[in-house]
Amino acid sequence: MEKADVIIVGGGVMGSSTAYSLRKLGHEGRIVVFEKDSTYNQSSTSLSAGGIRQVYSQEVNIQLSRFSLKAYEKFPDEMAIDGVRAEIDFKQHGYLFLATESSFPAYAKQVATQNKNGVLSEMLSNEELLTIIPELNTEDLAGGLFSKEDGYLDPYSVLQSYRKSAQSLGVEYISEEIDTILTERSKVTGVLLANGSTYSAPIVINCAGAWGGALSEKIGMALPIVPLKRQIYTFDTTEHLKKPLPLTIDPTGVYFRHEGGQVLCGFSEDVKPGIDFRWRRSSFDPLWPILAHRVPNFESLKLESGWAGLYNHNTADQNAIIGEHPEMGGYFVALGFSGHGMQQAPGVGLGLAELICKGKFETLDLTPLRVGRFKENDLVIEDAIV
Ligand SMILES: Cc1cc2nc3c(=O)[nH]c(=O)nc-3n(C[C@H](O)[C@H](O)[C@H](O)COP(=O)(O)OP(=O)(O)OC[C@H]3O[C@@H](n4cnc5c(N)ncnc54)[C@H](O)[C@@H]3O)c2cc1C
Repeated sequence: MEKADVIIVGGGVMGSSTAYSLRKLGHEGRIVVFEKDSTYNQSSTSLSAGGIRQVYSQEVNIQLSRFSLKAYEKFPDEMAIDGVRAEIDFKQHGYLFLATESSFPAYAKQVATQNKNGVLSEMLSNEELLTIIPELNTEDLAGGLFSKEDGYLDPYSVLQSYRKSAQSLGVEYISEEIDTILTERSKVTGVLLANGSTYSAPIVINCAGAWGGALSEKIGMALPIVPLKRQIYTFDTTEHLKKPLPLTIDPTGVYFRHEGGQVLCGFSEDVKPGIDFRWRRSSFDPLWPILAHRVPNFESLKLESGWAGLYNHNTADQNAIIGEHPEMGGYFVALGFSGHGMQQAPGVGLGLAELICKGKFETLDLTPLRVGRFKENDLVIEDAIV
């Protein structure tokens, strides 16, 4: 049996950010990341919309996302290897939640909490919205919540940079699938690989994304998480917009942003949980009238392409689940990110690394996102879920 000090299941953005942070905090042991698909074709990270925002209602989400946004601002230089900058194409064109008469007060309340936590968000009038998107139809709007530091980036480049940096610091990546986590008397002892071999370790971190719930259930540690299909579409317009789009969320929940010269959009459809990557062109049909209503340039659009990916959806409160499982020593998780894992990954990696190296959170208090909150009925109810 091979021995390791820390085993990470899943080398997506969470597993890789955690592995990197462990080394940065000085963990000198053997850290092994198992990744079943080194092409990352089905990883949520590769299939993400890459939206980076700080605008939430709950302080823990605001602080975690603000820390992560600041990390992404410095990312190209801090993650450079041998002088080569780690480009992640972070476009800080802002995040814009469009508000109706009825949703405006709730957004205004969120702004107060965000400002208290250092976020430069503000409520805009309909006239001010037009300075950001001159073509916007504001007839049924009352304004919007705008956060100018936010934006979008290239998630695959973030993942690859974390992975390369972790490897350069001595973290091992092994292209194998973990069949199950091994346990003895309520403590983890290692992992069993799908190829039949075993690795022992006192710490196993479940960063298996949409597959993480099934893995946890296998060792009797069920969590309120399911894989949930989410589709993305890209389209072209004959009449281009005057300015780069912020990541804009329509009151219907349809979101859109620029993707190069095209527009990328998506919507949280009501679908059954399960591993399902089928992308349907016809699912775009209900979105088109909403888009055309909001921006007249979208009336004549050409749907170019799209893809389907999986949220690791937290059915209880749609928020991250971070930390050691109270009923299984040495079993740590970073799961349940639903649609906001990219914007939290740097802070999550650091938080887990602090827990493991120092026994407590130091930089950010992520305790509200602990595993035990479900049994304690102490959920994190977040108003700003997309
Ligand atoms: C369509 C879509 C749009 C999104 N948009 C946004 C957005 O705008 N902003 C945002 O912040 N977030 C967004 N997200 C969410 C975000 O992408 C995820 O929260 C984040 O990427 C999760 O990272 P992860 O490392 O946990 O999961 P993943 O990237 O899925 O990584 C998990 C890895 O574990 C591996 N694995 C699983 N099981 C095993 C096993 N048994 N053995 C070995 N390896 C295993 C998988 O192959 C996978 O590579 C979006 C997600 C989707 C699908």
